[in-house]
Amino acid sequence: MTSLILTNVRPWGADPVDVAIADGLIADVVPTGTADGAGERVDGRGLLALPGFVNAHAHVDKSWWGQPWVSYDGEATTQGRIAHERAERDKHGIPSTASTIAVLREFLRHGTTATRTHVDIDLGVGLRGIETVREAAAALDGAVEVEIVAFPQDGVMRRPGVLELLDQAAAVGATSIGGIDPASIDRDPVAQLDGLFEIAERRGVGIDIHLHDGGELGAFQYELIIDRTLRAGLQGKVTISHGFALGELPAQRQAELLVQFADAGISWATVAPVRSAPLPWRAMRDCGIPIGLGTDGIRDLWSPYGDGDMLRIALGFARLHGLRTDDDLAYAIKLATTDGARFVHRAGLDLVPGARADIVLLDAENLPDALMRAPRRQAVIAGGRLVVRDGELLI
Ligand SMILES: [Zn+2]
Repeated sequence: MTSLILTNVRPWGADPVDVAIADGLIADVVPTGTADGAGERVDGRGLLALPGFVNAHAHVDKSWWGQPWVSYDGEATTQGRIAHERAERDKHGIPSTASTIAVLREFLRHGTTATRTHVDIDLGVGLRGIETVREAAAALDGAVEVEIVAFPQDGVMRRPGVLELLDQAAAVGATSIGGIDPASIDRDPVAQLDGLFEIAERRGVGIDIHLHDGGELGAFQYELIIDRTLRAGLQGKVTISHGFALGELPAQRQAELLVQFADAGISWATVAPVRSAPLPWRAMRDCGIPIGLGTDGIRDLWSPYGDGDMLRIALGFARLHGLRTDDDLAYAIKLATTDGARFVHRAGLDLVPGARADIVLLDAENLPDALMRAPRRQAVIAGGRLVVRDGELLI
């Protein structure tokens, strides 16, 4: 039995404890100085301890991380970015196992131990991206748990054959299938959504749909999604990613939709981009609409931004929404950790006995201090294994 005892750490900033780890799980949490038993001991030096971060919306297959800088030169619209990526990706070897490993390692270095990633499937790469991501995750021995959404980045109905690819992806283990702007990309919202829901219902997978469309065009598609979620009995299995329209709608319209989202068990993934309309996050929380945070793509042919640090995404969420109180700032961190668990189908993600031993140590006074400074990760334990020390990867 492999075992590790992490001494003198402060879970969520509380009083110091020792954490006993066995077989990849947290076996016990006891007041510091009282853990006994054999095994390697790691001195936590009174550092703040958090559960591993969850990246609920990533694109680990499409980055040029680890390669020389790629200057962005596409048109800055959704369609412009799609076209730019199609034209340029082969030149940069996208998708490749090496680049995907580089991204996952960077996630891990910042303390992310689980991610939901959208993986491009299209008429050019077929399902090759899914294989690539699986190989990369296996190369890290599961240190980062990876859940796959088969993502039709280039459209569905406008690209005959893509629906069949989504169906095949669902058959070979994608946990969810994606979609993208059924109105503005496919210009046939009913057809795309009917196609996606038919597959999801038949294959028993979830749906996680990219929706950039704003205002009432976005809201119209929310209504189509709510209606189909209820009819297909997919409550709890549908996520809207980005969903920029929600923050833009009048308060009364928002309130009506939130009740319907809650009723349909629809969750929300956001990367809290600057200049997007703030989400009605407090009302969403009160209605029980789950929110997950993600990095989106980092350093890819869409955008040069992003470093894979979920704590910085939580800080972006806090800034966008003007959070100031300690409780609200702590909530932003929770979104990037425990609240993300459902997006990767993890139960009991926390610093408690029985949970997978995913632990991040930071030199911070408390949660708000950790959020404001996003200090380097002093240590990361993933599945019971010490994988980062002093901000550097050991694997
Ligand atoms: Zn995305």
